[in-house]
Amino acid sequence: MTTANELPEKNDFIRIIIRDDLQSGKHESILTRFPPEPNGYLHIGHVKSICLNFGVAGEFDGACNLRFDDTNPTAEKQDYVDGIKEDVKWLGFDWAGDVRYASSYFDQLHAWAVQLIKQGDAYVDLQSIDEIRANRGSFTEVGKPSPQREESVEVNLARFDDMKNGKYPDGGAVLRAKIDMAHPNMNMRDPVIYRVMHAHHHQTGDDWCIYPMYDFAHPLSDALEGITHSLCTLEFEDHRPFYDWVIEKVGFDNPPNQYEFSRLNIDHTLTSKRKLKRLVDMGVVSGWDDPRMPTVAGMRRRGYTPEGLRDFCERVGITKSDGVVDHRMLEFSVRKSLEDTTARGMAVLRPLKVTITNFDEAVAKFDELKNPKTVADFDGEVLWLTQPKHPSLEVGERRIPFTKTIYIDQTDFEVVPPAGYKRLSPENPEIRLRNSYVLKVNEHKVDDAGQVVELIATIDENTLGNNPEGRKVKGVIHWVSASHGVDAVVRLYEHLLLEDDEISDVSLHEKEIIDADTDADTLWIKQHLNPNSLTICQAVVEPDLAKAAAGERFQFERESYFIADAIEHHADLPVFNQIVGLKDSFKPE
Ligand code: ATP
Ligand code: MG
Repeated sequence: MTTANELPEKNDFIRIIIRDDLQSGKHESILTRFPPEPNGYLHIGHVKSICLNFGVAGEFDGACNLRFDDTNPTAEKQDYVDGIKEDVKWLGFDWAGDVRYASSYFDQLHAWAVQLIKQGDAYVDLQSIDEIRANRGSFTEVGKPSPQREESVEVNLARFDDMKNGKYPDGGAVLRAKIDMAHPNMNMRDPVIYRVMHAHHHQTGDDWCIYPMYDFAHPLSDALEGITHSLCTLEFEDHRPFYDWVIEKVGFDNPPNQYEFSRLNIDHTLTSKRKLKRLVDMGVVSGWDDPRMPTVAGMRRRGYTPEGLRDFCERVGITKSDGVVDHRMLEFSVRKSLEDTTARGMAVLRPLKVTITNFDEAVAKFDELKNPKTVADFDGEVLWLTQPKHPSLEVGERRIPFTKTIYIDQTDFEVVPPAGYKRLSPENPEIRLRNSYVLKVNEHKVDDAGQVVELIATIDENTLGNNPEGRKVKGVIHWVSASHGVDAVVRLYEHLLLEDDEISDVSLHEKEIIDADTDADTLWIKQHLNPNSLTICQAVVEPDLAKAAAGERFQFERESYFIADAIEHHADLPVFNQIVGLKDSFKPE
C-alpha cells in the first residue's frame, strides 16, 4: 500500500528489462542517451524522456549521454543547443562526458554509407522526391522499384561521390538502403539514408552538402557510443526493424536495443516543438520562455520547480499505452514541491480602498491591549506588525505596515452576497484582517456605475492577537497598506488552449494535423486559443515582497503561489507570475 504522497517502487517494463539484462550478464553496465534535435526548446514531453533516460542511468549505476541529433541543419540552431543544455541541467541531471553531436560522426557515417553501397545494400536514386513518394506504394499496394535500383556498385559509388562533391542540387539525388519495395512495413521500402542539402550547419559549417537521415544516423550513433538501451517513444516502433537492419549491416558485435514507451500527452497542452514554434512565430506568446508555454524555459519562468517536474514524471510512470494525462496532476506535483518551502506574503490583486476612521485612537492603545504574542511597534503613523515569513520554517521575519488606509480585494466585499458567501457584506460587516485587527465596515461608497469604490470602517482595538469579546467573527481576509504597499504587476494564467468538451482531447487533434502544413497549424491554433490565458492585475503588495530577488517564490496568502519574474521584476516595479493555485482539485490515486 502506498499513500498519496509516497510513490511506489518503480517497476515499469523498461526497468524490468534493464534489471534482467544486468542480472543475466547481457550488460555489465548500462548506457542510455537523450537525443534531442536542436530545432526548438524542450517541452514537458521531453522532460518525461529526460527523467527516464537519466533516471534509469542513475538508479542502475550507469550513465546517460546527451546527444544532439543534428542531421537537419535548416531547422536547427546553436541557440537551441544552448537552451537544451541549460534545461537538462536545470532539471537536475548531468550527462556523461562531453555533449555529443550526431554531426561529429559525419565522417564515420559517410564511410558506413560507402560500405553499404559496396555490400550492395544501398544505391543512389535519381528520381525526384515526389516520384520516390509516389512509387513507395501503400499499405495495399507494393512499391515500384526505382530505375536506378539495380545499378552497379561502381556507378553508385561514383554517384554518391558526386552527391558529396556538390554535383547535384537539393533533391537531385538520394542514397537509399536496398531492402524490399514490397515490405509490409513502409519504413523498410528502401528508406532514404542520405540527401543533398546545400546548407550551413551550426556545428560542421560548410563541410558537407549531403546529410544523413535521422533513421540512419540515430541507430549508428547509438551503436558507436555503446548505448545499451535506446529508449524512445512509441511512434518509433515501426522504425525499429530498420534500426536493427542498419546496425546489423554495418556489423556491430553488441548492438543496442531500442525500446519504445508511450509519449506524454497532457490535456490543453501542446507537446510538439513544431507547434510551439508556431505559437512563438505567430506572436501569440512573448517567446519560448513565456510562462504559459509548456517548454522547460517557460515552466522555469512560470516558477515550476525541477522537483515538481520530476515528481510529476514519476507519477505518470512508463507504460506502452497512450493516454492523456490530467494537467492537474502536474499542478499537484508543483504545488507539493512549494508547500513547505515558500515564504508567505500578502498581495491584493484587485484593490479596494478601506479607510479606517478610528485608526489613530485604536492603534495608540495597542501596547496596553495587545496579546503578548503579537510583536508590533507604532511610529505615530504606522503600526509595524512583525510576523514570521513562514508558519513553521525558520526563514526569518517580515515587517508588515498597518495604516489608516488599506486595500482589500474587491471580491472580499459584496453588496448583494451570493448564497454561502462568507466574507464582507452589509449583513456581515465584520471580518478578521490577517495578522491584524477585526475590521467592521460601516459604509460603502459607490461610483456612478454602482461599483463599490471605497469602504469606511473601524477596527476593534481589543482584537490585535485576541478574539473579540461576546461574538464570533468568521473569516479572515488579506490586506495591504495603501500608503506603504508597493504597486506591482501580477500576472494570472489560464491554459493557452480553450477548455471545451469537443477539443478536450487535444492530442487527438494534434495527431490529425501532425503532417499538416503550417497554415493548418495557424488556423487550428487561432481556433483553440484561450483569450483569457493571461490576466494582468495592477496589484499592491506588502513592501517585503517588492524586495524579493528575481526568481524568488512566495505564497500570496489566499491567492496562489507566485514567482518574481526572472527578467522583468525590479524593486521599484515588482512583477510576479502565478505559479499554481493553492487548492487541489486533483487527488492522486
Ligand atoms: P517534437 O515533435 O516536439 O519535435 P520530437 O520527438 O521530434 O518532439 P526530439 O528532439 O526528436 O523531439 O526528441 C528527443 C527525445 O524526446 C526523443 O527520444 C523523443 O522520443 C522524446 N520525446 C519527444 N516528445 C515526447 C513526449 N511527448 N513524451 C515523451 N518523450 C518525448
Ligand atoms: Mg523530432
